[in-house]
Amino acid sequence: MIVDAHIHMLQEPGFSSNLLRQMDAAGIDRANLVALWPAAFVGSVTAGNNAVRQAVREHPDRFTGFAYVEPREADAPAQVRALADAGFHGFKLFPPLGYRVDEARLRPVFDAMAATARPVLVHCGSTNLDLAAEPHTTPINSALARPLFLDPLTRLYPDTTFVVAHMGFPFLLEAWALAMANPNVILDVAGGPVWPGSWAGIYTNLGRPIPIDWNRVWWGTDNCMTPADGLAFAKQNLTHILNLPNTHKEKRVYVRWEVENPLDGTIL
Ligand SMILES: [Zn+2]
Repeated sequence: MIVDAHIHMLQEPGFSSNLLRQMDAAGIDRANLVALWPAAFVGSVTAGNNAVRQAVREHPDRFTGFAYVEPREADAPAQVRALADAGFHGFKLFPPLGYRVDEARLRPVFDAMAATARPVLVHCGSTNLDLAAEPHTTPINSALARPLFLDPLTRLYPDTTFVVAHMGFPFLLEAWALAMANPNVILDVAGGPVWPGSWAGIYTNLGRPIPIDWNRVWWGTDNCMTPADGLAFAKQNLTHILNLPNTHKEKRVYVRWEVENPLDGTIL
């Protein structure tokens, strides 16, 4: 089964049916629709939790859904529990809006997410979004999204799966080190050819200084390319890596395209 594990639902008429048609043409079985907070980003056309939940209800055999969580809201822990009860399969956080995931004040939100046994996808690294809208009128700050900020959380919540979006580009070494030290970390290679598709080239040119467990890598288009182009691009990068001398052959090396048992919310 091939799964686009990271794609955002957009506020476009016919989005679901268009996506399903493109998935069929590309041979992609499922898509994990990641909600964002439409009101949070100036000029964004991404859809929020309600639209994603509706799309998943209409196509439970093709879509799973990750709910957007704004952890600075006072009732965020209660929201997390309600979102899990509503059938979401995981959660999405976007720290560049103005917080770090390792802030102590956010711990109750992570307690609540961990209690649901669902994975947490965290935007890491640079972003092409510019401004956060009301009520958080701040510029987006990619420096808040370093992969190593997840390090204490992966240890506090060893049974929770944390997904580092975009392999944390440009903080790739941090992302790889985080994943090497913490088996509950998944590296996400979603995105386009420049950002963050350069991971394969950097991995090659740095001489593979930090081993990557390719069983803990997942792929997604992140709306940067069509499903067919995105899949072809990822396969091209993977083939390149597999053909490198001294690639870690002690493990069966493959990118985890699959989201197994997605309806169980385990995503692994
Ligand atoms: Zn994304």
